[in-house]
Amino acid sequence: VPTSYNAPAGVLQDKVILITGAGDGIGKTAAVTFARYGATVILLGKTTAKLTAVYDEIVAAGYPEPAIVPLDLKGATKKHYQDMAATIRAEFGRLDGLLHNAGLLGVLTPFEHIDLPTWQDIMQINVTAAMLMTQALIPVLQLSQQPSVVFTSSGVGRKGRAFWGPYAVSKFATEGLMQILADEYDNTSLRVNCINPGATRTSMRAKAYPGEDPQKLKTPEDLMWLYLYLMSDASIGVTGQSLDAQPK
Ligand code: NDP
Repeated sequence: VPTSYNAPAGVLQDKVILITGAGDGIGKTAAVTFARYGATVILLGKTTAKLTAVYDEIVAAGYPEPAIVPLDLKGATKKHYQDMAATIRAEFGRLDGLLHNAGLLGVLTPFEHIDLPTWQDIMQINVTAAMLMTQALIPVLQLSQQPSVVFTSSGVGRKGRAFWGPYAVSKFATEGLMQILADEYDNTSLRVNCINPGATRTSMRAKAYPGEDPQKLKTPEDLMWLYLYLMSDASIGVTGQSLDAQPK
């Protein structure tokens, strides 16, 4: 696996890629970047106005016209995901890429103060929703020649850290989900990997580190080499890996 990747223009031509949390932060940049490299992107997120703004930006730039799926992962049920899978199949005939990027941080708090409703919301959005969505989309992904599923992890999903409670546990679970799927589909064309973005200039990072100067952080654009690598055919055969978008 490389530590940098210069994506050739058009590397995602003819690919259909769904991005969760596509309205803001890293997901927004990934959606616009995938479209710039030729993909038709399906923008999924909670706030419709943010998705519409990303849609407009992509269309204004002359990239392939995206689709929008407004969905709150907190309340979404198996039926929502199955209906979405049926719609993608009918509209596009297949799904080539799935980027699980949406995430909820919650609030950093001492273990003794972890609040059950917050814990459950974080597990629902960060883990259960990704599991249910992947389950529903596997048949549509298998209609692609080289399907790629990418989960979003974190440094605290590999080594626990004080006060990161439910968010960190959800990221350990994300790594587990990725490993289990990668192992089950090991001798198929479906590849499954994790990206650890590293400290990145977004509103989530600002919420976790309110005293930090955002100008000192990498931007979502700086991470895109790895997102493009994993979504493009350059990464065929790479599976079961948890990769750093900001390698040391
Ligand atoms: P942001 O908070 O900027 O963006 C998160 C996105 O997820 C938003 O578009 C948000 O939609 C969406 N989302 C949140 N809750 C839901 C929900 N219930 N249903 C649908 N969509 C939802 O975060 P980042 O861009 O910083 O983070 C992206 C990913 O990267 C996350 O998985 C995060 O854990 C991970 N990460 C980020 C790091 C960083 O430093 N920024 C470091 C390590 C990991 P809306 O705006 O509509 O609420």
